[in-house]
Amino acid sequence: MNMLLNLESPVTTAHRAKLAYIYVRQSTSGQVRQHQESTELQYRLVDRAAAFGWPRERIEVIDDDLGKSGTSSDGRGGFQRLIAEIGLGKAGLVLSLDASRLARNNHDWHQLLELCSLFGVLIADGERVYDPCAYHDRLLLGLSGIMSEAELHQIKLRLHQGERQKAARGELKLPLPAGLVYGRDGRIALNPDEEVQARLLHLFAKFRELCSAKAVMRHFQQANLLLPVRPLAGPSPHDVVWQPASSARILQVLKNPAYAGAYVYGRRRRRPIGRRSGSQGPATEAVAIQDWPVCLKDAFPGYIGWEEFMANQQRLADNLNRYDAHRQGVPRRGNALLQGIAVCGRCGRRMGLHYSGPHGNYPVYVCRADQHQHGGPRCQEVRALGVDVAIERLLLEALTPDRLALAIAALGELENEARALEHQWSLKRERARYEAERARRQYDAVEPENRLVARSLERVWEDKLRQVEQIEIEYESWRRQQPVSLAGIAGRGGPGADPLVGRGSSQVVERGKCGRAEADPQACHEGGDPRSAASERPSLDQDRMADWRCQRAPDPTQCE
Ligand SMILES: [Zn+2]
Repeated sequence: MNMLLNLESPVTTAHRAKLAYIYVRQSTSGQVRQHQESTELQYRLVDRAAAFGWPRERIEVIDDDLGKSGTSSDGRGGFQRLIAEIGLGKAGLVLSLDASRLARNNHDWHQLLELCSLFGVLIADGERVYDPCAYHDRLLLGLSGIMSEAELHQIKLRLHQGERQKAARGELKLPLPAGLVYGRDGRIALNPDEEVQARLLHLFAKFRELCSAKAVMRHFQQANLLLPVRPLAGPSPHDVVWQPASSARILQVLKNPAYAGAYVYGRRRRRPIGRRSGSQGPATEAVAIQDWPVCLKDAFPGYIGWEEFMANQQRLADNLNRYDAHRQGVPRRGNALLQGIAVCGRCGRRMGLHYSGPHGNYPVYVCRADQHQHGGPRCQEVRALGVDVAIERLLLEALTPDRLALAIAALGELENEARALEHQWSLKRERARYEAERARRQYDAVEPENRLVARSLERVWEDKLRQVEQIEIEYESWRRQQPVSLAGIAGRGGPGADPLVGRGSSQVVERGKCGRAEADPQACHEGGDPRSAASERPSLDQDRMADWRCQRAPDPTQCE
């Protein structure tokens, strides 16, 4: 005690008249759990404050920040409270194990020093007491603040280099999109779920055809198709969930090089400035493909080839609505025929469209890139109606000799489309039936007397059966809207085709009247489909459910 209170000690009665604050912090919750020794050491600083002459009841421990990093004061409620208490003149001493506990950020650290020197607060660590008003103490404190920030930088650098080297060898385990999975041997393979595979292949095929992510999105929404997504929140393994196909989700699939079988590390990097409001981490930005730090092509099986992936990226870049010269435009929606693809004859840039007239129904092609970007005059504008009529005539004239071939090709395309969708639907229905069957098996596995569990499993089963019904209704209504005879398509499936089905479109018209088709539409329309073997399972309907309930009810009077 005498040692501490010698003439050199800056602690005075004025300091002791105020409170002593002990600041306790650990960077992560893992450290809090595993390095309890350090946490205890920090709590034992109370004894040290008592040794300086503070009575126990005037020592306050601030331990709100256990498990929080000292990189910034954001989200560190304890540190902010400490700053507030100092600013209110309540503190005489701030004690922490070392400077890095208080802050690993020079800005926060110097703010603390400044406040302490203004209000005459002493700072102490495990070794000695500093007076921020004294020049030499201030110098030491400043240096230890710099050291603690530098230390953090060194730690991060070492960790990051290790990660990068592992990634360069392709051994760093990166999160995978829904279409890929890690096998037992740690290798990456296509997701074995057939519906996931088929949906993604359909997406790429549609983009090949429609050339626009928005158009693919509209197609998915019209056909009522969902997209497989693997959300990366929470502890792994992350399950695949089915989500509506938004434009962003479709772009995520199209822009993900993993679907082209490439192992890529560093697609995004931290931005030195800016942070999205509400987000925890720093802002990031996309890195251009040629600057990706690690890109190993053909590292694992993919859904498309690398050339197609690159072509898709080029296509997406061209689709951006920039009216620059030498950009391949994309047809856009509107009343004019050439919206998005008309090129200005004077400057070579894409022309925009605006609507004139009292009701805005006269489209006009305008070239106004100069006006938008440099405030210059409009390059030129042309009324669309006259141009469109001329283009239409030219187009029809050019097509006249091939009219029959074109009509057949168009019909073939419609059939292909219908066949692709039929495949998607059959997988969707198969999944729904499987889930209902699974719910039934779970219900079966429980003891009938255990009504507490059986009741909730029964509800789940009922829900699944309702979903099966709903999907069948949606499927039927989709079939009715199809202009092309699907029965004709299915009938050409193979030698095992149902002879009834091959009779053509009259079968489709008769569908509603065919009793068997109503009960089990699969039997009538998928005769030639190899997948129809899977559909031979007994149909699950509400009657059967009721039968089950009767058999299983422990008390026969419960059965209605
Ligand atoms: Zn122009």
